[in-house]
Amino acid sequence: MKNTNCIICQKNEFKIVGKPRINKRFPRIEESNYTILKCKNCGYYFVSPQIDLSQEEWKDLYESDYFEASQKTQWQIDLNSKELKDRIGVISENLNIEKGNFLDMGCGEGFMLKEAEINGFKPFGLDIAHNLNPEFSEKYDFFKGSIFDAKFPDNFFSVVYMDSVLEHVTNPVETIAELKRILKPGGIMLVIVPNEDSTMNTVAKWTYFLTLNYSKYGKIKPFVTPYHIQGYNKKSLNSLFDRLDLEVIDIVGFGGNYKFWKSQTPFSKQYFVSLFTYPFGLWSVLFDKQIQLMSLLRK
Ligand SMILES: [Zn+2]
Repeated sequence: MKNTNCIICQKNEFKIVGKPRINKRFPRIEESNYTILKCKNCGYYFVSPQIDLSQEEWKDLYESDYFEASQKTQWQIDLNSKELKDRIGVISENLNIEKGNFLDMGCGEGFMLKEAEINGFKPFGLDIAHNLNPEFSEKYDFFKGSIFDAKFPDNFFSVVYMDSVLEHVTNPVETIAELKRILKPGGIMLVIVPNEDSTMNTVAKWTYFLTLNYSKYGKIKPFVTPYHIQGYNKKSLNSLFDRLDLEVIDIVGFGGNYKFWKSQTPFSKQYFVSLFTYPFGLWSVLFDKQIQLMSLLRK
């Protein structure tokens, strides 16, 4: 592991941070093979050696259980809808060129496509699996596969939106470079990833420690949902975008102040988990350690 360089900053000093939990569906994968490392220079988290699941195996995982994880309450549905509106607002405010094609890379059910259309963009969806809401299937352009297979023309999109994708891709540098190629000069990219240095992850880490799971790590989870094969903090995101010569307009944290009494079905297991973690959420807002990071970029 000393021979490889950090794919973001090219330095080669790493801190060993723990072992990933292994998915029981893949008995061929041995826990002992994999180590989670953090780059000492830029703070990028990754798995070493690189994970070698096939496209088929990834597809199988994503189509089976990724989107079935939780039953949403009405409050969560309303919150998600408000978040999408707010994000389109931020994009529009910062877009100095004409509204045009809008790519939602990893569009899932497709609600952002609808929001983009309402706001005067021409939406395109792309995802590795087909999970589009039936309402949108016929309506919007959709490509099933990777961004590299889609082969969009140069300077095709005014906006590229990517929520919860960059932590799943094999090579974030190549992915962002490809997105930059298809983005118009002056176009806006909005990228949302989990913050691996969030208060919640620190709590998870200490929970493992106190329950004597010393080797387990509370941060990236490459083999169990939500399949994060790498992780970021503000520093590594800045490093990544800087390397690819994108203008960083802002990187902000969010997602720390969820109201537990509204966000979960009352008295469910998740409700009590949320009750327990609520004070940590407040703490994370105060100390800028919220669970998500939103990067606003311009080409
Ligand atoms: Zn690095």
